[in-house]
Amino acid sequence: MSNNKFKKITCDTCKALCCRLEVRLIDDSDDQVPEEFTEKSEDLYTRMKQADNGWCLALNPATMLCTIYEKRPYLCREYQAGDYDCVNEREKFNL
Ligand code: SF4
Ligand code: SF4
Repeated sequence: MSNNKFKKITCDTCKALCCRLEVRLIDDSDDQVPEEFTEKSEDLYTRMKQADNGWCLALNPATMLCTIYEKRPYLCREYQAGDYDCVNEREKFNL
């Protein structure tokens, strides 16, 4: 069992690892997401584009903050620290 499971999960010391996950646009409110940050997948759903570094294109790599925070997708607004993918990504980066 990994000791990481017993570490406190906090975004304060995390490099926005959840912003490396695929983010699909699924809600009507996602119409507000600026189009230049989105693309169609091969399966024709709309998702956030990823930069060459693997993070979402809307993330500022200098500050590691979302540049479209007020207009970020529904899934980003609903995302909770400690979710399955959050823990998974943090373990990949040994956090
Ligand atoms: S939600 Fe999880 S992966 Fe995202 S910044 Fe916070 S701790 Fe990191
Ligand atoms: S839209 Fe913002 S919060 Fe959502 S993945 Fe991209 S940078 Fe992260």
